[in-house]
Amino acid sequence: MSNNPSRRKFLQAGLALPAAGLVSSTGLGAALQDSPRVVYRTLGKTGLKVSGVGYGIGFVPVTEVVARALDMGINYFDTSRDYGDSEKIFAGVIKGRDRSKFHIATKSPSRRKEDILKDLDTSLKELGTDYVDIWHLHARDTPAAVPDEAVEAMQMCKQSGKARFVGISCHDPNRMADFLIETRVFDVMQTTYSFPIGGYYRDRAIKKLQDAGIGVIAMKVVVALTGLNLKDLTNPPAREGEGPLAGIKWVLNNPAIGTTVPFMETIPELEMNFRAMSEEFTPADEKLLYVMNEQIRPDYCRMCYECSGACPKGLPVTDMLRYLAYNDFCGKFHQAQANFRGLPREIQDVRCSDCSECAIRCPNGVHVQARLMRAQQLLA
Ligand code: SF4
Ligand code: SF4
Repeated sequence: MSNNPSRRKFLQAGLALPAAGLVSSTGLGAALQDSPRVVYRTLGKTGLKVSGVGYGIGFVPVTEVVARALDMGINYFDTSRDYGDSEKIFAGVIKGRDRSKFHIATKSPSRRKEDILKDLDTSLKELGTDYVDIWHLHARDTPAAVPDEAVEAMQMCKQSGKARFVGISCHDPNRMADFLIETRVFDVMQTTYSFPIGGYYRDRAIKKLQDAGIGVIAMKVVVALTGLNLKDLTNPPAREGEGPLAGIKWVLNNPAIGTTVPFMETIPELEMNFRAMSEEFTPADEKLLYVMNEQIRPDYCRMCYECSGACPKGLPVTDMLRYLAYNDFCGKFHQAQANFRGLPREIQDVRCSDCSECAIRCPNGVHVQARLMRAQQLLA
């Protein structure tokens, strides 16, 4: 984000402070208020009242921005030790605050029972709290990644009272929704959901989860919309930052979504995103998103997973394009490189430049071979 000149200008410009008053509501109709304010929604059968705009405490969170979010009434914070010192830094911000006023979600990368139980104890220690509100299994994109002993461990975490509710985070809800519903242990799913393909490819799975009472937390809600040079648009928005704002409003327009967890680095960015809770999604927002979507079409993978298994050399195309997006759309080179270097050696060594023609025809217009060549040159 910060390496984009247009974005920098927006971040430096600042915006008027929103009203700090809170409105408690679970209905979308109540969201249409005159001034920016928090609107709470119910997170599935957990019954938790969560702010529609939550906060993704990613790598290197900015403590002043996180503290300001708490002061504004944002009450859902997503973290993980997989994001470096994320938990520890967040612990410093919440120290001395009333723990009942906000919800914490964090995650285990483990598969074995004893490791998951140990991970939770470590997270509680790092966070300086004696319970978390949501305890996730991190990045589980197939049921095989959730063995029976992991399910048992999650049940035990809940029974111990150290985790109020349990969930999984995944990038493809289509592959995980039925599993989650049938397992009858998980209370929430955190998954990718954003304009516009996120809706088209994911709405059926999201609705299924909603009908089963499973709360849905939308992540990666503005990744595609933050790194753009808005000056390149034919019809640029009146104010930079309105792309992400429109993107979050679009996500919140779906009543099945409990909350969103955008990563926010500056106060103006926080305040712009905050508005999404109390502003209506308008035809102008929709137009803006369509324009931006066309601009990013060749470069941004919509994570529809239509090309899964299509590469004869076994490349996990969707994952690799996502890693590249961390750099190209968010300016997070180290995160992109760490993910790429976590791939099996034989996958890292494949070079798309060796193929005379790519086997993948992306229905969304992504230039797959060119993008993967860039990922291999930049991140290997
Ligand atoms: S490259 Fe295209 S087909 Fe493959 S996941 Fe991305 S958007 Fe879907
Ligand atoms: S160019 Fe296409 S087919 Fe060849 S390795 Fe890359 S993704 Fe696979």
